[in-house]
Amino acid sequence: MKVAVALVPRIGLGPGRTDTLNHCSPDGDCALVATVANGKRPPGRGMLAAVFNGPGDVEVKEVPTPKIGSGEVLVEVGANTLCGTDVRILRGEKTAGISPPTVLGHEFAGRVAVVGDGVVGYQVGTPVAMAPIVPCRRCFYCQQDMENTCENRKAMGEEIDGGLSQFVRVPAAAVQAGCLFAAREDLPPEQLALAEPLSCCVYGQRRSRVGLDDTVVVMGGGPIGFFHVQLALLAGARTVIVSEPSQRRRDFATALGARFVVDPTSEDLSGVVAEATHGRGADAVIICIGLPGLVTQSFELARKGGRVNVFAGPSGEGRADIPFDLIHYNELEITGSSGSRRSDFEVALRLIESGRVKADQMVTHRFPLKEAVQAINAAAGGQGVKVAVMP
Ligand SMILES: [Zn+2]
Ligand SMILES: [Zn+2]
Repeated sequence: MKVAVALVPRIGLGPGRTDTLNHCSPDGDCALVATVANGKRPPGRGMLAAVFNGPGDVEVKEVPTPKIGSGEVLVEVGANTLCGTDVRILRGEKTAGISPPTVLGHEFAGRVAVVGDGVVGYQVGTPVAMAPIVPCRRCFYCQQDMENTCENRKAMGEEIDGGLSQFVRVPAAAVQAGCLFAAREDLPPEQLALAEPLSCCVYGQRRSRVGLDDTVVVMGGGPIGFFHVQLALLAGARTVIVSEPSQRRRDFATALGARFVVDPTSEDLSGVVAEATHGRGADAVIICIGLPGLVTQSFELARKGGRVNVFAGPSGEGRADIPFDLIHYNELEITGSSGSRRSDFEVALRLIESGRVKADQMVTHRFPLKEAVQAINAAAGGQGVKVAVMP
């Protein structure tokens, strides 16, 4: 992957200085100065952002700090965690909705820095987490409770500049839709940022209808798989089986409560599933890695009437051999899930806040914003569990 890096030195004012007071205006810039004066980082007229210029090309550079209009909120980013979607965008595998140059990053949390005119419910300094999909709330899909597939959907980190940046402008439509969630005061921002990937898993679990006494197979022990393990157990699953080649990740899954972990490169996953289910097969299989071959395999792991959720976005061409006969004779239920709705985000954030989903051990790598490119490479290389960029 070719990645261009153009580092521009951060404009410098010492901590605690208020030289930006000359930007103070009645519409809220004074508030920005207030946080800056108390905080560590003066925004001045510019800020650092990781700008995606096209496949293989991300540039960390100085850009103007967004101006906030009425109805909008400026968020000072505390952390932006990276995921496979960022990597797929960078590799040119995901192009829908992406029109470079744009600032990537859809999993972020921080604090309110400026509150635009007419905005209620937020104060400067309020910790917030962002549900990045901004639904129109009017189209057919929004009205069918499928706002994640909204026909007029715009997403932070895709159509709208995202969280790999010191500050993010949250558009009025997102503020009005309640996409900016006030969060608990005392949690680190990288944990709050995980509400986004967790919300997608909450939605995936709902699509899979995981419930009491189920046996659930999670294909892939990455951050998404780890969330699915935890959510399945919270929903009452009896047995969770994780298929994952990395020993370290299998150990992590075991620590989270998976009863069986399987190395699919050397062990017989279908044998383990059969043994755990009296030969019947799993009630639910959740595919958390975008490898087309896993789709075929998952259909074989599910019991009659079992549910298979294609959770991960596909890598490569995204074509899989579909076992027509298994779907028909075994009456399989196949669902997809893509992104999440605000209602899923609310649940995810509260699960993290209450500690019922463990987010504290998930972030294993932290990079400063100026090293966003290295951070993306670390995420692409599968290092650790979750990589956070901390402006
Ligand atoms: Zn993501
Ligand atoms: Zn819509």
